[in-house]
Amino acid sequence: MTLLGLMQNTPLLIISLLKYAADYHGQREIVSVTGADKVHRYGYKQAYDRVCQLAHALAKLNIKSGDRVATLAANTHRHFELFYGVSGIGAVLHTVNPRLFDDQITYIVNHAQDRLLFLDPEFLPLLERLAPKLASLEAVVVLASREEIPETSLKNILCYEDFIAGHPQDYNWPVFDENLASSLCYTSGTTGDPKGVLYSHRSTVIHALGAAQKGAMSLGPQDCILPIAPMYHANAWAMPYIAPMVGAKLVLPGQKMEPAILEGLINRERVTFACAVPTVWTMMLEYLDKSGKTIDSLERTTIGGSAVPAAMISRFKEQYGVDVLHLWGMTEISPLGTLASPTPEIEELPQQKRAEILTRQGRAMYGLELKIVENDEMQKTDDGKQPGDLWVRGPWAAAGYYRLEQEKILDAEGWLPTGDVAVIDQYGYMKITDRTKDVIKSGGEWISSIDLENAACGHADVSQAAVIGVHHEKWEERPFMLVVPVAGASPVVGDIRKFLATKVAKWWLPDEIRIVETLPLTATGKIKKSALREEFKNFSLSGGKS
Ligand code: ADP
Repeated sequence: MTLLGLMQNTPLLIISLLKYAADYHGQREIVSVTGADKVHRYGYKQAYDRVCQLAHALAKLNIKSGDRVATLAANTHRHFELFYGVSGIGAVLHTVNPRLFDDQITYIVNHAQDRLLFLDPEFLPLLERLAPKLASLEAVVVLASREEIPETSLKNILCYEDFIAGHPQDYNWPVFDENLASSLCYTSGTTGDPKGVLYSHRSTVIHALGAAQKGAMSLGPQDCILPIAPMYHANAWAMPYIAPMVGAKLVLPGQKMEPAILEGLINRERVTFACAVPTVWTMMLEYLDKSGKTIDSLERTTIGGSAVPAAMISRFKEQYGVDVLHLWGMTEISPLGTLASPTPEIEELPQQKRAEILTRQGRAMYGLELKIVENDEMQKTDDGKQPGDLWVRGPWAAAGYYRLEQEKILDAEGWLPTGDVAVIDQYGYMKITDRTKDVIKSGGEWISSIDLENAACGHADVSQAAVIGVHHEKWEERPFMLVVPVAGASPVVGDIRKFLATKVAKWWLPDEIRIVETLPLTATGKIKKSALREEFKNFSLSGGKS
């Protein structure tokens, strides 16, 4: 006989996080940079009141459960309000990455069939270009006050402050199934169109609970969190959810991510915890070294999105007293997967060994399972020595992509392939050793090797092209292209570069192109990327190209 527990089955809904913060940490501040010298401050209670107003305004536009509402916005308090107002009424917040190409943005807004778009004034020129192609949009709201909205050729745009003004500061939030969709984030794959990861209320709340734990990010009301990673990247690294859940002060840095601005914010607001990709910190450490400034309040920073260099971890600790928590994640897993926080066993190890282990990507948080399998046989190889494909399973990992539900992405036991190659050591710390997905991550943004190769092969003198990611001092990885000419042709590197510039975005252009006679091939005649990656593993680029 099935015996059910006799406990309340309260659904885990996102609005409960902010409601809790309003009730128990109502005065704890959210600080938001909204312009060159403009800083907005309020507490969670006031934020909640405005979120209620927003919910009324959305309802007035007949936004209903399941409708998609897009944002093109930086980290500000208004964007934060949308995270709650939209999902609170059961609609879906679609955070669009403004750094994507015009075609990709057009594709994803149309694919998601977004009904509304909320955007920062800075992105109006982008929308002016794309608006004629965005057929599903019924209204556009600029995240600003009336006087902050610049001249635009767009007709009938709404002003956010007017949009929410006058509505009641309470809302009778609907109670619904925690498995309903709450937010949507597209990730660009190796080739083809971006794919939508559709988070649920349940996955979001459980993920936030897991991430805040002491053994993970260890966040609480004493903390002041600075999310530098953009809120449109990979579910905002969960920061807008974790901060109110634990009652932490939240500092939202706005559009400009320059080191001097970030350093000023850290010192002024007494930031204790920040999150960013390595490239941001490379620039920050350079700035601190040159200026002689310090960041004394900062206790910890979580860094991920690309591998964190060991030197960065030791510089942070030795020069600035900051503990780095190396993080591995993916948009598909909400995005937090592993964190390299030390356990007592690691603390007891000799300093060098301890430091080496903490450069790894870390241990899985409770709730997320990891397994390493050998390429073909799908045999588990968690022996800490043999790298294999990394698979994940858990309540905040994707089961499919939005409007591609017929494509099965999990294996029979529900595991999701990550496209990363890793080992897990005897202490349970995972280390990424390679990537099977054919992409390059430059400063936190994806470049498709395959698209670059296809573009190069469009050149009349190019027979084969291979692109791999090589280490770069500033951008972590940059594309490096090898080209085999067609028989009898002698292409010039400069011409190939010019040709590519007509096909791909400027920041995708390979930093180096080499003409070679042959490329290593697999038994089936494909270019053997693993051999190329091995050959160039110690090759490093420097300079400011992007
Ligand atoms: P995010 O924005 O969280 O990095 P993406 O989905 O854009 O999410 O990228 C996920 C991929 O980025 C991973 O599968 C992995 O290849 C790479 N990645 C993320 N974090 C790390 C890390 N700490 N070390 C190495 N690679 C990483």
